[in-house]
Amino acid sequence: MTVNLLDFDAAGLTAFFAEQGEKPFRARQVLRWMHRFGQGDFDAMTDIAKSLREKLKMMAVVMPPAVVSDKLSDDGTRKFLFDVGGGNAIETVFIPEDDRGTLCVSTQAGCALDCSFCSTGKQGFNRNLTVAEIIGQLWQANRALGADPKGERIISNVVLMGMGEPLANFENTVTALRLMLDDNAYGLSRRRVTVSTSGLVPVMDRLGEECPVALAVSLHAPNDTLRDELVPINRKYPLGELMAACSRYLKKAPRDFVTFEYVMLDGINDSDTQAYELLELTRKVSCKFNLIPFNPFPGSPYLRSPTHRIRRFAEILMEGGVVTTTRKTRGDDIDAACGQLAGQVQDKTQRVKRRIIDLHEVRAR
Ligand code: SAH
Ligand code: SF4
Repeated sequence: MTVNLLDFDAAGLTAFFAEQGEKPFRARQVLRWMHRFGQGDFDAMTDIAKSLREKLKMMAVVMPPAVVSDKLSDDGTRKFLFDVGGGNAIETVFIPEDDRGTLCVSTQAGCALDCSFCSTGKQGFNRNLTVAEIIGQLWQANRALGADPKGERIISNVVLMGMGEPLANFENTVTALRLMLDDNAYGLSRRRVTVSTSGLVPVMDRLGEECPVALAVSLHAPNDTLRDELVPINRKYPLGELMAACSRYLKKAPRDFVTFEYVMLDGINDSDTQAYELLELTRKVSCKFNLIPFNPFPGSPYLRSPTHRIRRFAEILMEGGVVTTTRKTRGDDIDAACGQLAGQVQDKTQRVKRRIIDLHEVRAR
């Protein structure tokens, strides 16, 4: 059976090498070739003994998901679409800013949690991504973006805010996180890797124990009645429990605040009263707010709050003493804005499916 080496973190690769009678430092060398230098061809790993390279060629591959399309937005945002087989496609977005380059990575094809304002949720759940598919997005994007003129990598931050709920694919997500943090792989600091969750309380505790990184929590409502409607997982883990989980997480976290994401929905969750209620709800948690203007998608039941409303909402939060930022909507022209991922995947997926059917037909002939 062929093994995909992108599925392993350092510990996994070392164990795999040990099974083949190879020393740990060999695993480290190969890890570095694959992730630090983006090398997928064993023959190019020149400091590895020829005999080992031949052995690897027989039994292993370095296989990231294939890039189906790569689109550049007017504002520099770049969106990659990957084929992950079985008619499923996932998206990854690179967002360049003055002081950093952020890659927004997907962890599932679709999502089971069905938040009412989310395009991925509306698509339903297809499957968890493998480690190779999660880390492969970074691998491919690094390759496509290259290094800057000083030889530094362009991706300085990773946010797991693409398609899917990372904590619902915990094992694979954590293995991929370990690679992001590993100095022999991507060497990112824990503070620059952010997991975004809709609030899977018990798994937040596990993340804090096993792999603490920066945390963003998708709040979107200041009380249980509204949140039950917008974020259905709230019925299982209501706000009281979620706030307590945030406080517990902060004891382990590399940053001393949680980022609360709050999508701005016109007339639904954007009133002055709701802003005050939000301050009250989060009073005991060290936090920042990130307001996300709602990004519509075909068939979505909401409208984006008007700019003056978002501004006033932010003002109230700031007057309440909490740092509040409003996310710039970027990549609009290529449907790469928050929550729009998968907006066209269904479409594309159909196309991929069609192509696969075409191929079958060709073969059948
Ligand atoms: N499942 C995780 C991470 C992926 S979603 C989570 O829910 O946190 C990343 C962010 O995009 C979340 O805050 C989510 O609420 C937000 N989002 C989803 N749909 C959106 C939309 N249509 N417009 C703006 N933000 C959206
Ligand atoms: Fe899933 Fe996050 Fe979308 Fe909710 S907002 S459906 S948790 S991807």
